Amino acid sequence: MVNVKVKELQPRRCRLVIDEATPYFVNSLRRVLLSEVPKMAIDDVIVYDNNSGLFDEIVAHRVGLLPVTTDLNLFKFRKECVCEGKGCQNCTIRFTLSKEGPGVVYSRDLQPDNPAYAIADPAIPIVELLKGQRLILEAEAILGVGRDHAKWQVCSGVGYKYYPIVKVNNGQVQNADAVSKSCPVDVFEAHKGELQVVREEACILCNACVEKDRETGGKGVTIKGDETKFLFKFETDGSLKPDVALLKAVEIMKNRLNEFEEKALKLKVMEAEV
Ligand SMILES: [Zn+2]
Repeated sequence: MVNVKVKELQPRRCRLVIDEATPYFVNSLRRVLLSEVPKMAIDDVIVYDNNSGLFDEIVAHRVGLLPVTTDLNLFKFRKECVCEGKGCQNCTIRFTLSKEGPGVVYSRDLQPDNPAYAIADPAIPIVELLKGQRLILEAEAILGVGRDHAKWQVCSGVGYKYYPIVKVNNGQVQNADAVSKSCPVDVFEAHKGELQVVREEACILCNACVEKDRETGGKGVTIKGDETKFLFKFETDGSLKPDVALLKAVEIMKNRLNEFEEKALKLKVMEAEV
C-alpha cells in the first residue's frame, strides 16, 4: 500500500515522503504535475497604446508568463465550454492595464474583472515607462496545460530521490572530523571523535563520506537509497496551492486509467488467421 506523509506544506512548496512506491509511479506523478495540471494564463493581448521601450510582442510575452490565480472548480477549457470557444466568464478572465510614465508597470497594474483572480505575485515588473510613455492594453486569460506552453505550467522544481539510509559504526570510523567535513550537505556532526547522523534526509547519496572514510582507513560509514521510499518535492508559481495541484494530478492520472480501462474492457479476441 502506498503511504504518503507530508513533510512540509507551504503556500507554494511541498515535500512528501512516499512509501511503498516504485520509481515509475512517482515519475508519472512528476510528469503529470509538470505538464498536465491546468491553470489560467494570459493567451490573448490587445495593445491599444504602447510607446514604451519594449515591442508589443515582448510585452505580451511577459504578461503571458504572469501567474494568474486559478480556481479549478470554476473554470473550464475554452474548447469544452458552453460558449463553444467564443469566451465567457466560465472560461475566460479579462484584464485591463493602463499606465503612464514615469514609473514601472508591475503585475498588480493588470486589473482583473474579478479581484479574486489577480496576479499571484503583485510586484513582477513588466516594463519601465519613461516620462510621456504609455501602456494601455486588454488581455484574456484561459485555461491551459504546461504541455502546450510553459506559461500554463503550474509546478516547477518537481523532483524525487530515494529515501537515504545513512549508517555509522563509530567503532570502525578512524577520522570522524574528516568524514563529517566531506559531506556537502552537512548530514553529520562530529563530537570528540564520534560521528553522528543529524540530517539523514538531506543526504544526496553522493558517497563522499564513504570515500573519505575509506581514505582515512575506516570502514564504518555506509549509505544506501531505499528503492521503495521517496522524498518527493515540488513548488508552484502561486496560481494553485501545492495540495490542490497534487490532488488534481492524481485525479488526472485516475481519469486516464479509467478511460483506458473502459477501452480495454471492449477489446475483443481477434479471429485466428487461417
Ligand atoms: Zn466559455
